[in-house]
Amino acid sequence: MTLDFTYQASAARIVFGNGASGDVGKWVEALDCRRALVLSTPHQAGDAEALSKRLGPLSVGTFTEATMHTPVDVTERAVARAAELGADCVVSLGGGSTTGLGKAMAYRTDIQQIVIPTTYAGSEVTPILGQTENGVKTTVRSPKITPEVVIYDPQLTLGLPVGMSVTSGLNAIAHAAEGLYAPDRNPITTMMSIDGIRALKEALPALIDSPRDGAAREKALYGAWLCGTVLGQISMSLHHKICHTLGGSFDTPHAETHSIMLPHTIGFNASAVPELMTPISDIFGGATPGRALYDFAKSIGSPMALKDFGLSEADLDRAADIATRNPYSNPRPIDRTAIRALLQDAWSGTRPPY
Ligand code: NAD
Repeated sequence: MTLDFTYQASAARIVFGNGASGDVGKWVEALDCRRALVLSTPHQAGDAEALSKRLGPLSVGTFTEATMHTPVDVTERAVARAAELGADCVVSLGGGSTTGLGKAMAYRTDIQQIVIPTTYAGSEVTPILGQTENGVKTTVRSPKITPEVVIYDPQLTLGLPVGMSVTSGLNAIAHAAEGLYAPDRNPITTMMSIDGIRALKEALPALIDSPRDGAAREKALYGAWLCGTVLGQISMSLHHKICHTLGGSFDTPHAETHSIMLPHTIGFNASAVPELMTPISDIFGGATPGRALYDFAKSIGSPMALKDFGLSEADLDRAADIATRNPYSNPRPIDRTAIRALLQDAWSGTRPPY
């Protein structure tokens, strides 16, 4: 094997540990900030208020309107509130939606961000922002978007409902699985992909049995960090293209869509590059990567069929058109007929043939 690669480490400082979010004030000061605005969704507003209170004079208040798909009007209100309060940094407490709001604010104003993730989505370690305006979702990439500090505190994930833990964990696995065949992969991202997938494969079944199992929560969050880092550093392919198509054009829910598509897209591509996908077989066993991922997802109670999420069979034609238009680079050539068939299997929840 010849080695020929470039590697760009993430600029985010990672702080990992049980109770680590208790030190958030220290990290506000380390950024040379004194006036943090705490962000959350309405659902986590109570936690945001409590965090703001704990920060004492280092907090200027909260903005608790973060929502899915980062609508531009919400971002504009948050930017205005930050200016009104003289905030010099944000502390984003929550999942990808809250992180997205902080990133959208940083993209516009360069405000510094501390993120405290409470799901496994991985957005906190990427320079990518997806935002929506007038129903259209666009994606931008910029170094300004990458958060400065990420505090992973497994204790904050103890209450993540089991269903969300499963789909969010599979969402994370999808980043790393596509990382295994990314054209710009390198030995470090491959190492992170394998270790991240293995951690989640071990942690997710344990969480179902015992949602407040601290060791399993720790392992899952560690896996999520690795998988998210892979997403932030290299290119994604067919799987992410299809999920963006379904979420963007048909409004299917983010983590559930990733969970359902994972066995189909990874199985499809594995048949073209089996040597790159041996880690999937090593970790999950099974006859083929697609079937192994399908069996695993089913065993942990993942949703398995797109038809359960408001997508009609008639939508699949349009989804196949959009997903094969301007495709991302992919290890297996993409033709519309094959993608339409793959979508049919995902829609009905059929075990993939590969
Ligand atoms: P989310 O942030 O939308 O969270 C869903 C709901 O769960 C929210 O109400 C939230 O408050 C709640 N929640 C979060 N953590 C909780 C916890 N520990 N306990 C109880 N409730 C909790 O969901 P998500 O899957 O984390 O994020 C999805 C969004 O992130 C999508 O919009 C997606 O596009 C984006 N995303 C972006 C990137 C990127 O790199 N730009 C990467 C991954 C995801």
